[in-house]
Amino acid sequence: MTDIRASRGLRPVINVSGTMTALGASIVVPEAVAAMTAILPQFVEINDLHKLASPVIARLTGGEAGFVTASCSAGITLAVAAAMTGNDLAAIERLPDATGLKDEVIIQTGHVVSYGAPVDQGIRLAGAKAVLIGQATSCYPYHLDGAINERTAAAVFVVSHHTVQYGLIALKQFAEVCHARGVPVIVDAASEYDFKIFLEQGADIALYSSHKFLGGPTGGIVAGKKQLVRDAFLQNRGIGRGMKIGKESILGTIAALEAWEKRDHIGTRERETGLSPPMEADTDRQTGCHCRDRSGSDAQPP
Ligand SMILES: *Cc1c(COP(=O)(O)O)cnc(C)c1O
Repeated sequence: MTDIRASRGLRPVINVSGTMTALGASIVVPEAVAAMTAILPQFVEINDLHKLASPVIARLTGGEAGFVTASCSAGITLAVAAAMTGNDLAAIERLPDATGLKDEVIIQTGHVVSYGAPVDQGIRLAGAKAVLIGQATSCYPYHLDGAINERTAAAVFVVSHHTVQYGLIALKQFAEVCHARGVPVIVDAASEYDFKIFLEQGADIALYSSHKFLGGPTGGIVAGKKQLVRDAFLQNRGIGRGMKIGKESILGTIAALEAWEKRDHIGTRERETGLSPPMEADTDRQTGCHCRDRSGSDAQPP
């Protein structure tokens, strides 16, 4: 097969650093490529495609429902917007004007990182204010509890090797404090392997990138509680329009999720770790997540 990169004068890349946007994210699995190629030349009712995606996402994440959007970054904005507007269509069309809505979103200071863009900008894009709690390396449940008030719409928790890995509130406790005060928890788990653990640990919404470990097309997966997922989906009638996902990426993500279920994950990891020089295992204390050698980071030096 001729390499399309060579014919367009693009340099080939041997990627030993991870699933990064700057390097073309991931290599899309053949099942997704086939599904995308098959649907691209066809008209299809897009909401029927979304309906197909929901049970597949639910099955893999343990959530009640799910949908596919443009990116995980878009997912942050849509989930925050959902927590602000509920299913109020007029409010959805009014965003990012948040007049009269709950507009504060709590996040631990040690989670306000850049994955190529600032995490808090994804919150602000919805018209919300990011309320930073604690210090970069120190945050306690009293910081969280003390920040919750009648304007609090949601709390965002970021799972990433970019975040400070010590001294912060772990997800389970974070969710307990939020839920005791009726605040939904949105987890950005963009580049994590484990599609179930964050909802299990109390997230109301968990967000993943389709184009990282999943090996899907560019996209974001929103999974979790039915009501919140639905309200996030409704944002497609508002600020979500610019974050639109196409038919090929919805079907490509479905195919990638189905392929993920059948993949030999242990074999893949053994092959990858066998190829890389020995590194010290870095198990995330807060989530038990193993985020070692494939970073998923989009952060680039200027
Ligand atoms: C990659 C990443 C994102 C952005 O995901 P996209 O799907 O590329 O928008 C957000 N958060 C974290 C922690 C990431 O690693």
